[in-house]
Amino acid sequence: MYNKSKKIKILFVLAAGKLYREAVKRDNPYRYYAPTTLIQLAALVPKYLNAEVKIVDQGCEVFSDDFNADIIGISTITCAAPEAYRIAKIARKKGITVIMGGYHPSLNPDEALKYADSVVVGYAENTLPKLLIDYKNNKLKRLYRDTSKTLLVKMPELDRKYLSKTYFPSSSIETTRGCPNGCKFCSLPPMVKNRYWTRPVDEIINEIKTMGKNIVFLDSNHTVLKSHYLKLWKEMENLKVNGYAAATLQFASEIDNIKLIAKSGCKGLLLGFESLNQESLNTVNKKFNNVIQYKEIIKNLHDYGIGIIACIVFGFDYDGTSIFEKTVQFVNDTKIDIIKYAILTPFPGTPLFNDFKKKNRIITEDWSLYDTLHAVYIPKKMSPYQLEQGLQWSFDETYKIKSILNRIFRRGSPLIHSTIGNVIFKRTFSNIIPNKNS
Ligand code: SF4
Repeated sequence: MYNKSKKIKILFVLAAGKLYREAVKRDNPYRYYAPTTLIQLAALVPKYLNAEVKIVDQGCEVFSDDFNADIIGISTITCAAPEAYRIAKIARKKGITVIMGGYHPSLNPDEALKYADSVVVGYAENTLPKLLIDYKNNKLKRLYRDTSKTLLVKMPELDRKYLSKTYFPSSSIETTRGCPNGCKFCSLPPMVKNRYWTRPVDEIINEIKTMGKNIVFLDSNHTVLKSHYLKLWKEMENLKVNGYAAATLQFASEIDNIKLIAKSGCKGLLLGFESLNQESLNTVNKKFNNVIQYKEIIKNLHDYGIGIIACIVFGFDYDGTSIFEKTVQFVNDTKIDIIKYAILTPFPGTPLFNDFKKKNRIITEDWSLYDTLHAVYIPKKMSPYQLEQGLQWSFDETYKIKSILNRIFRRGSPLIHSTIGNVIFKRTFSNIIPNKNS
């Protein structure tokens, strides 16, 4: 039971998967942007609680088990959930109250409740302050579910000092949340129930004015509402900053959009190409990606000085073993700047997981392997082993020096960013598949 007269010590931890934690131990963390999760949580602590708040991101600093607090809030995605639960067990042994949130607990609250005293389902803006007050009054509930219709309006001011200590010189900001698209493998739609929120453009612009030169939009998909993104990018033009964002290929297929964002300082887009196989895209409800348009979209973006981080997934039901070579060839031919390959991963709580589970295709429920680098299900047209080996081969081929040089030396390339990105990816994704040579 909490002593009401005492100052509350709150510790927020962003749990990280093994790959991140090991990279941090080797002193080469590979995040190229700063998530704002922790500083947002810290900003939500009501001032009148006069709490002492600490934050730790395992993705960029080593977190010792020798921690102390009255209450620990752990945010986690699926591959970091075992680590989050390990931390929770240690915390409870020390008598620390444990709360959990983030994608995995939101989609699997019953599981998280085995390790936590309380779970926040959905976004925390409207639930965390109430939870902390309940805690202070010794009335903590087991579940806090976000049911609010309004989000992203009058956001609390963020203290970005922590980020500048630990990340590359970029400043991250949210401009929207959610996504109404229903890609079967994505955790976001089930978490937000396909809803979408936009932040008032004047609030975004005012915040960007207080930030650095390189601005990263953290949104999973900031290009849903045309009136919002057009206004935002138009106003960005006056700020003379470099903008980086995630967008859909639908958005990038409109040349007017590319012209607008290029004029407004956009230097890079993260795009979910997902697959070169249209049938595969159709099976996961991503029909709005049109493979025939890929080359033209890439060329247009490059012509307007916009670099590309391409997300490409292997292991869809129509992918045979030839998909790896075909994809690497495409990437080299089109000179995509940076490529993040992944294995299709049926995150628990998604329609894909339910589908595979029903068909007995799930091999393991060891969540630490749900990191998009391991085959955790039985693919249709190759073995799990071939899928993992194909992923490693694709990384190795793509990040050979010859391939990097071929891709980054082109007219209009954002050379410094591309070089840094390629070096980080080469360093991070070499030898990640443990059974490679066995
Ligand atoms: S993958 Fe992208 S477009 Fe599809 S649901 Fe997720 S955020 Fe939306």
